[in-house]
Amino acid sequence: MPPPLILPPANAPEPAWPIPKFELCIEDLAHPGARLFLDSGRPESMLRDAVRAVCSWLYTPDSVPHNVQVVRLVLRDMPGVAHTSGSQTHKEIVFAVSHILNSAARAADEVRGVLVHEMVHCFQYNALGTCPGGLIEGIADWVRLRAGLAPPHWREGTGGRWDAGYETTGYFLDWLETRYEGSFVRALNARLKDTPYDENLWVEITGQQVGELWATYKDELEQKRAAGTLHS
Ligand SMILES: [Zn+2]
Repeated sequence: MPPPLILPPANAPEPAWPIPKFELCIEDLAHPGARLFLDSGRPESMLRDAVRAVCSWLYTPDSVPHNVQVVRLVLRDMPGVAHTSGSQTHKEIVFAVSHILNSAARAADEVRGVLVHEMVHCFQYNALGTCPGGLIEGIADWVRLRAGLAPPHWREGTGGRWDAGYETTGYFLDWLETRYEGSFVRALNARLKDTPYDENLWVEITGQQVGELWATYKDELEQKRAAGTLHS
């Protein structure tokens, strides 16, 4: 059984999030990765849970955007993991069946984790297309982490830059979320809504430059590592 979806207490009881229409295209039903996908859970439930996680962690009922009308999921035999594209109203997530097959031992968790990551891309703001890619990917993996779907190979404290992306940036955002009392990433995403990216936004939210925050974070990780309390 996959782990239960973890949602933030701030949105309890859970509001009625804007759930888009879902479409599913499985290009080769006989591919063993496609079979594993179908064995992982009801596609509609997994997609709905991904939307619930994204809306819960990035928005409130008042701030949640209502532009996404359709999310189409395509299972394709291709290299890589997944990618998302589309318009303001219609999004398409393409998911590699070979990746699902490669994660066979924990396919149900991996499918849910990847769907949450890609669903973030359907709903997150990107500073009118100017947001650094590492921050976009970091926010996506942060929601995956917070939803309780981090894969076992993730390690905190890897990566040399705050904007290295994926779990490196995701864990950094998680440290900031804890430090700024559980509303940092929501504020960050909101700040990316309708103005171009500007590093001053870090100062506006925290009073510090992102480089200073990263240095403090890395120092704390070093102290934890020295004390043997870093999970790795
Ligand atoms: Zn991504």
